Amino acid sequence: MHVLVLNSGSSSIKYQLLDMSARRRLATGLVDRIGESAGRLIHNGEAVGGDGFADHEAGLRAVLEVFATRGPSLEQVVAVGHRVVHGGSRFARPALIDDEVEAAIQELIPLAPLHNPANLEGIRVARRAFPLLPHVAVFDTAFHQTLPPAAYTYAVPAEWGVRKYGFHGTSHAFVSRRAAELLERPYGEVNTIVLHLGNGASVTAVRGGRSVETSMGLTPLAGLVMGTRSGDVDPGVLPYVARQLGLNIDEIDSALNRDSGLRGLAGDNDLREVWRKVDQGDPDARLAMDVYTHRIRGYIGNYYAVLGHVDAIVFTAGVGENDPRTRELSLAGLGRLGITIDQARNAGASRDARTISADDSPVTVLVIPTDEELEIAEQTIDTDGVARNPPN
Ligand code: ADP
Repeated sequence: MHVLVLNSGSSSIKYQLLDMSARRRLATGLVDRIGESAGRLIHNGEAVGGDGFADHEAGLRAVLEVFATRGPSLEQVVAVGHRVVHGGSRFARPALIDDEVEAAIQELIPLAPLHNPANLEGIRVARRAFPLLPHVAVFDTAFHQTLPPAAYTYAVPAEWGVRKYGFHGTSHAFVSRRAAELLERPYGEVNTIVLHLGNGASVTAVRGGRSVETSMGLTPLAGLVMGTRSGDVDPGVLPYVARQLGLNIDEIDSALNRDSGLRGLAGDNDLREVWRKVDQGDPDARLAMDVYTHRIRGYIGNYYAVLGHVDAIVFTAGVGENDPRTRELSLAGLGRLGITIDQARNAGASRDARTISADDSPVTVLVIPTDEELEIAEQTIDTDGVARNPPN
C-alpha cells in the first residue's frame, strides 16, 4: 500500500513515496525553480534533469519519468496525498478531492495568497496525471479547528470576518501523538506544549489530542520570531510605519514576512549563521537570540496557564531538533514550573526521538523529529473513500 505525497510550492514540487504497510520511505525528491532555466530535479538525493521546467505540469511529468526510468515503481500507489496550507473553517479534517473541494481551496486563496494557488496547481496537475487514483487534501490548519472561540476570536469588529486559524497542524498532530506514545500514555489524557521551530515557527497547546491554543493566526505571520517573519508585533506598528515612512500595505506585508525575524534583527535567517555571529561577538545577533528565546519562554508560560497541567514540552523541526542552545535558553529559569533539562541529554546529538529533561523534572521535555509527509500519508489512507485494502 503505497502513497505518493506531494507538497507543491509556488516554484517547487516536493514529493515522497511511502510504503504505509511498513511505514517506510521508498523515494524522496523535489523539482525546484519551476519556471526558471536553472530548474532542477533531485531524486533520492541525486540531481537528475537539469534544464528547467516551464510549469508544474512539466515538473510533475519529469517526476513521473524519473520514477519510470529509475524506480521505484509507482504501480502500487493507492492514493495521492496533497499538502494544502489553508483550509479555513471549512476543513477540520482531510478531504477526498473532487471538483467541489478544489473550488473550496480556490475560494480560500485570499487567506493564503502565496500558498493555496501553488497547492491547487499541484492538485490539478496530479489529478490529470493520476485520474484513477483518489487524491486527498491534508490541511495545515485542520488540526487547529478544535480551538475554542475564546482562543480563535480576535477582539476586532466582527464585520472584518477574521479569526485565528493556526498552521503547522500536521506537524503538531504528529509530534503530540508521538509524545503520548513516548510517555506510554493514552493520547487523550496527555497535555503537551509543542514547539515547532523551523524557518517558520509556531507553538501549540494540545490538551488530550486536541489543539486548544496556537501561536499563528489568520496567517502564518503571528507568534514566535521566525527566520524572516516578525511574529507578534503591536498592530499599531503598521499604521505608524505607513504614516511615518510612507510605506504602503504591500511593502509592510512583505517586510514583515521576508525582512523581519532573525533576518531583520541579525541579518541572517539561518539560526546556525546567527549563532556563528553571536560567537564572534556580534551584538545584533546576541539580541536576536535573546528576543527569539524570550518570545518562546513567554509562550510556554502562556500555554502552561491555558493547559493548567503540562505533561510534556516537545521541540521539533530544524531548530527544535538540532539546536541545544536554543532549547536550553528557551527553558532557562523555568525550574519553578517543573521544567528542568538535563545538560548532557540536551547536548547529545541524535536523530531519534528522546527525552532531554532531568529524571526528577515533573514536566518531561522531549525532542521529537517531525515527519509531516508520513502524517499526510497516514491521514490520506485514513480518509473516507480511500480504500485501505485495495484489490491486488
Ligand atoms: P522549514 O520551516 O523551512 O521546514 P526546517 O524545519 O527545515 O524549516 O528548519 C530550518 C531551520 O533549522 C534552518 O533555517 C536552520 O536555522 C535550522 N537548523 C537546521 N539545522 C540546525 C542546527 N544543526 N543547528 C541550529 N539550527 C539548525
